[in-house]
Amino acid sequence: MSSFTFKCSKCDQIHEGIPSFNLEAPVYYYSIPSEEREFRTKLTSDTCVIDDEYFFAKGFLIIPVSGLDETLFFTPWVSLSKSNFTKFQESLDIEDASKYGSMFGWFSSQIEGFGDCVNLKTNLILQDNNHRPDIDIEPTDHPLSLAYHNGISKEKLIELVEIYLHKW
Ligand SMILES: [Zn+2]
Repeated sequence: MSSFTFKCSKCDQIHEGIPSFNLEAPVYYYSIPSEEREFRTKLTSDTCVIDDEYFFAKGFLIIPVSGLDETLFFTPWVSLSKSNFTKFQESLDIEDASKYGSMFGWFSSQIEGFGDCVNLKTNLILQDNNHRPDIDIEPTDHPLSLAYHNGISKEKLIELVEIYLHKW
């Protein structure tokens, strides 16, 4: 049972539960004209390669909400070096991927409500048992970094969910 419900100021309905948001591709992917994507990009549910030159992995970004057990989470992308991407791909096939540790990645998604998020510095922390890796954002005063490290208030969560439900 969900503990998060609120009356929406945009549609007057009661919304229940924190929706989850799947980000299907890194932002760079959308800058490739759609008729060229077929031969310039390789997109899976975990990886994206563009022009055999740019390498991206998908992770989990978890944002705690004060006073709630539930968290807000996204599945953003980070860009990896070629050698780390190779390692990341190997890790997808094994149960004990955490032995690969973490790898540096540039944040490659926009999260509505947190300003410009592209190219924040992150660490991608590989997880065991084929779980999607966690994204750890470098501590700075960027709004997304503050939200990740300090959590957000319930009021901020409502504000964000209203934007996401009625815009995304
Ligand atoms: Zn609504």
